[in-house]
Amino acid sequence: MDQKYEAIYKLVLEALQAGQPKKEEDAGTFEIPVGISNRHLHLSQEDLETLFGAGYSLSKVKDLSQPGQYACEETVTIRGPKGEIENVRILGPPRDSTQVEILAGDCFKLGIKAFARLSGELAGTPGIAIIGPKGRVQAKEGVIIAQRHIHMTPDDGKRFGVRDGDVVSIEIDELRGGILKNVAIRANKASALECHVDAEEANAMSLNSLSKIKILGGKRNG
Ligand SMILES: [Zn+2]
Repeated sequence: MDQKYEAIYKLVLEALQAGQPKKEEDAGTFEIPVGISNRHLHLSQEDLETLFGAGYSLSKVKDLSQPGQYACEETVTIRGPKGEIENVRILGPPRDSTQVEILAGDCFKLGIKAFARLSGELAGTPGIAIIGPKGRVQAKEGVIIAQRHIHMTPDDGKRFGVRDGDVVSIEIDELRGGILKNVAIRANKASALECHVDAEEANAMSLNSLSKIKILGGKRNG
């Protein structure tokens, strides 16, 4: 081919390719909002009353994205064998079991070894001391590092081709973005579409409250 025509041909080809969506973008668009959690805890009613006094009820400061969940005015101190962390926020309402969600880096400060677990999967998790204004609780278990997950309704799931219990990868298109594996799908009717990561994951990937992620695919559960 004539050199001049070859150059034009190359330019046209590049222009055509630029207009084509890249293959991985076919899986969906960046439409899932992100919720970023710092360390926090959920308390059982019994532990709440031990820490704050009999008959105590929590004061809501802010509703969270998931229906019925809220951040409270109250905070506590959590204490492990090596150190303590003050001002850990309580999220309401009270639950059946106390659950303390820390960041991976907190394990060093507290001197405990927690693992990434989904909310409610507390068997075999380490315990911790919780100190409130009126008392103290020695939780035998319940300390986890929250495993990243996406809340959605079953209808959202149909749209994304996933079901409750599936594990997917997600893509993050931010300055320090990338792909995160092992993101659990939590689908039920009482959920609002949102991907939950903790503050360390968010910082590592430049995620912020305006970020949107997309599902790349993953393994089906059953
Ligand atoms: Zn969540």
